[in-house]
Amino acid sequence: MTKEINIKNVKIGGKNSIVIQSMTNTKTEDIKSTLQQIQNLYNAGCELVRVSVPTFEAAKALKTITKESPIPVIADIHFDYKLAIESIKNGASKVRINPGNIGNDEKVKEIIKVAKEYNVPIRVGANSGSIPKELETLPKIDALCESALKEVRLLEKFDFENIVISVKSSDVIETIKAYEKISKMTDYPLHIGVTEAGTYEWAIIKSSAALGYLLYKGIGDTIRISIAGDPVKEVLAAKKLLISLNLRKGIQIIACPTCARTTIDVEKWASIIEKRFSKVEKNIKIAVLGCVVNGIGEGKDAEIGIAGVQNGFLLFYKGKIVGTFKKEEIFQVLEDYIIKVEVE
Ligand code: SF4
Repeated sequence: MTKEINIKNVKIGGKNSIVIQSMTNTKTEDIKSTLQQIQNLYNAGCELVRVSVPTFEAAKALKTITKESPIPVIADIHFDYKLAIESIKNGASKVRINPGNIGNDEKVKEIIKVAKEYNVPIRVGANSGSIPKELETLPKIDALCESALKEVRLLEKFDFENIVISVKSSDVIETIKAYEKISKMTDYPLHIGVTEAGTYEWAIIKSSAALGYLLYKGIGDTIRISIAGDPVKEVLAAKKLLISLNLRKGIQIIACPTCARTTIDVEKWASIIEKRFSKVEKNIKIAVLGCVVNGIGEGKDAEIGIAGVQNGFLLFYKGKIVGTFKKEEIFQVLEDYIIKVEVE
């Protein structure tokens, strides 16, 4: 089991549940847009948010951003150690650095001094794209893990153990192997993700394959599904991945693929129902099916199901037909049965 660490009020590692992380893609200097995006991410279920801090203006903006953000803010730093120090002083709850590109050990020591003072953890992130020269001759997985551990040892040399590690690759198999390996070598919490996973479909598929496997094996304390585009989609996908692996409570929507027998717009109804009950924290499956012919059989693994009929829906509960309801009644009826699942 990994060590527990605190990122402000969010506990990660140990027996804590897997935490969803995302990253803003607004200019951090633009405080208003960044805070708006953080709010959108939070509304979608994000629990930790990372922002890039490439300039002193961005570090300065953190003062307001960290004060007004509903979730802990992590500062992403490259190259300039002073930006890390400034970010911590301005309220960042964690910093992500790559000591390899910070420069000499003395500069890392300076960051550590302030991180200790403010009780802020540091994530050391090794990426397959930034392996130090001296490790390049090693096999890729060994190089990734060694690169992260080299950074960890440097922090430990200065008596710092408030550490999170990541060893990301843009390749699914490499990601799996690297995290499997490093999880056997350290007990620091692991932030897992496939880096530069791609546009929506690629990102979802690669992240689900790698993170699904790792989480099922009990590896990973925080996750990010990295998608090129709107980060809110990252959070929604991460939440669904955790629910589907039974690592988080929530409604799972089952929907048939539709066929010539379909009598309702399954995709539309499944999406509406999913949105309507997205905040419900109960492990319940709701099936949305296009017809009654095979529908009830196909949806028998769900606690609650609706199947399209002429002018409405047939509702079934734990495999038994309850009755037929008009479309406008369906939300209320579903709500009643969601409550009933819990009571029974
Ligand atoms: S539930 Fe009905 S509409 Fe949906 S795929 Fe099965 S047979 Fe077709």
